[in-house]
Amino acid sequence: MEHLQLLSGTINSAWERLRMGFSSALQGRASHEALLSRQDCELRLMDTIRRCLQLRVRCDREYAAGLGQVVAQAQKWERAEDMAGSLIAQAWSTMMDETESLSRLMRANAETLATTVIDKLNALATEKRASRKIYQDEQARMALEITRYQESVSKLKAEYEKNLEVYKIAKARYEDQYVKGKAGRKLEEVKERYVKACRRLHNAHNEYVLLLLEASQYERDFRTVLLPALLEYQQLVQEDMIERWCAIMRSAAELTSFSTEKHLEIQSRVNGSISAITTDGEYREFTDRHKSQPPPPVSFLFDYQMVEEYSGRLKPEALAVDDLTIGNLRMRLADLETRLADVRTVLAEKRKQLSQHDAEVECLKKQQDSVNRLFVIRRASEILRKDIRETQCTEQKLQRLTKLIRTPLDELGGADAPKAVEDMGDMSPQPERPLVDEDWFHGVLPREEVVRLLVNDGDYLVRQTTRNDETQVVLSVAWGGHKHFIVQTTSDGQFRFEGPSFPTIQELISYQHECGLAVTNKSGAVLRQAILRERWELNNDDVELLEKIGRGNFGDVYKARLQLTSELVAVKTCKVTLPDEQKRKFLQEGRILKQYDHPNIVRFIGIAVQKQPIMIVMELVPGGSLLSYLRSKQHGSSLDVGAQLAMCRDTAAGMAYLEEKNCIHRDLAARNCLVGMHNMVKISDFGMSREEEEYIVSDGMKQIPIKWTAPEALNYGKYTSLCDVWSYGILAWEIFSRGQSPYSGLSNTKAREMIDSGYRMPAPDGTPDAMYRLMLRCWEYQPENRPHFAEIFTQVNGLFMGVAGPDVLHN
Ligand code: ADP
Repeated sequence: MEHLQLLSGTINSAWERLRMGFSSALQGRASHEALLSRQDCELRLMDTIRRCLQLRVRCDREYAAGLGQVVAQAQKWERAEDMAGSLIAQAWSTMMDETESLSRLMRANAETLATTVIDKLNALATEKRASRKIYQDEQARMALEITRYQESVSKLKAEYEKNLEVYKIAKARYEDQYVKGKAGRKLEEVKERYVKACRRLHNAHNEYVLLLLEASQYERDFRTVLLPALLEYQQLVQEDMIERWCAIMRSAAELTSFSTEKHLEIQSRVNGSISAITTDGEYREFTDRHKSQPPPPVSFLFDYQMVEEYSGRLKPEALAVDDLTIGNLRMRLADLETRLADVRTVLAEKRKQLSQHDAEVECLKKQQDSVNRLFVIRRASEILRKDIRETQCTEQKLQRLTKLIRTPLDELGGADAPKAVEDMGDMSPQPERPLVDEDWFHGVLPREEVVRLLVNDGDYLVRQTTRNDETQVVLSVAWGGHKHFIVQTTSDGQFRFEGPSFPTIQELISYQHECGLAVTNKSGAVLRQAILRERWELNNDDVELLEKIGRGNFGDVYKARLQLTSELVAVKTCKVTLPDEQKRKFLQEGRILKQYDHPNIVRFIGIAVQKQPIMIVMELVPGGSLLSYLRSKQHGSSLDVGAQLAMCRDTAAGMAYLEEKNCIHRDLAARNCLVGMHNMVKISDFGMSREEEEYIVSDGMKQIPIKWTAPEALNYGKYTSLCDVWSYGILAWEIFSRGQSPYSGLSNTKAREMIDSGYRMPAPDGTPDAMYRLMLRCWEYQPENRPHFAEIFTQVNGLFMGVAGPDVLHN
């Protein structure tokens, strides 16, 4: 039974083979052609593979050589003593060693590929070519045999037919003679021919029968045995070659792979060395080897010898608080307090930022895909922490300085500061008249102003300047242009130019004026007319700062008293620490304001530049900034339409005056207007103003108040009074919205985009229609379509005068 099953299994698989294989399926002529063509294709594929493998060998050899160069480059790095123990350096060295191993492995693989694998492929191709030929020849031979049988059969058949003809004739003749009753030799002859023909016919018949049997036997064999056997043999041969071809491919794949066991070992050695890097291990050996003592402290101690011989009030390590220093100390204190407040604001901001970062770090730690962000935040936190420590040091320093000044001032209370110099009666020498008391001394008046004052040749003045932190006194003279001479100090403390030296600068200048000689030979400049300080050039000591009332871009703003007139004024100070360039910008506002006189423009009184901090003095406008005024509960909510229109009228009047004077304000906004007595609005803050009909900004658009600025100024930097008209529209909107922020909720960029696409703010509640229409005209995109200030003033004034009935209210 078991045996039977085995047998049937064998039969089945043979049948399967027959059914599926070449021998059963590929007997036809067309299959034969296809089989040959298939083998041709395979040969071409082998050829292509061979070429590609050769190319691959070349690439791999080159790559291996490239890796060799990498290693050679790495070897150029000199391993310094200081890197001993560095885990990073060790990991790098392992990486390079393994790169070398990789290079060697690649080269070896390339060589094996070049020799063994390609050779095997060549041999296989040769064999395939041979087997193709055998199959083709054998098939042709069998086909020829069939043809030959066909030809032989038809030849024998023709012979058979011919013999049959001869036989029929011979037989007919013999029968004829025989019937006629003939006998004898003649009959014998006929009979013999008849028998001969009959023999031939029979023999031909037999030959024919035999050949037919043979041919049909061959034909059957050809179909059922020979051709299937040939095809089966072909299939076996081809399949055997496929097996070898596959082995060749496998070797090629392995030799060109990057992920063999050997590769993985190389990579795992590299990974291992990198994993061995630890942040605390990296510098361990280095810090052990280079351990040292921290730097010794440098002491900054007061030298007691300095005050030993001085009979006055100076005490080591304590400030001298007296009538000569108190003003200065108060100023220093105010400056220090401002700086301390600034530093504390910065510190609070930084601490807040740090705690935000810490929170974010905690959050990010829980997310897996935020490694980069985590790294960035951590780095930013480290920098912040370092900054905070540094800022804390600054805070402490400022705190101690502030305390050093504030304690003695507090102790003084309201009392007068003690006199530094005791009265010694008539016998005492006259105290030296300070330079600042000379009318021709102009303090730190900027060069531009100096040049403006010196008009005719021989006009001169003396001023002070700072170069590399050193204060220098300069004599400025108009002499075919403007010449500036630094007063030289001799080794024994005297003053001179090129000529004789004098104990005081006053004597030097007076000599220089009276002698009529040139200050220096080269310049030939002679002093003729001293230019005295102008009314508006105030002496710092004449300005008594009372209380801080605001904070500007350059420094604090104070309420102050002018000592000569006791007038209360507002004083803008410029931080001592700002660079000269900034101080010049600060004074620019004073220079512009100086020329204007209008009830709706804050009145300029003077500048005080004899000493630091330099100041701009102007009328005190008691209500402070218009924006705070509008926003305050006390004032803002009680403003009625009449009062709002009056404010718009005031600003329009001030702006019409400025437009007439060709002054472009460039920063008109509620925050830059002040409110005076009877709600009168005055335009202030001329820090960005320009006295030109048109002004093109070329130095970038930093600090531009985007939401107040006209599109052409934002887009092309082109400023005219019509840009101020746009800002006026926004200012009017601020007045009617009681100090709301324009385009609230929109970023600067978004607001800009919306304006460009035609959006305009709606009217605040309670705005008269006519006023809103005017605002819209101020916001015409094309500047030429906007009204000028003169027209605006007339319109707003008209509205103000006529504001009586409720029908003018906008709903
Ligand atoms: P900056 O131009 O440096 O920014 P501001 O002109 O804006 O300085 O002044 C800052 C603040 O000081 C104002 O908001 C206002 O409160 C106050 N201030 C400025 N000038 C005067 C003045 N003339 N009278 C009263 N307060 C003033």
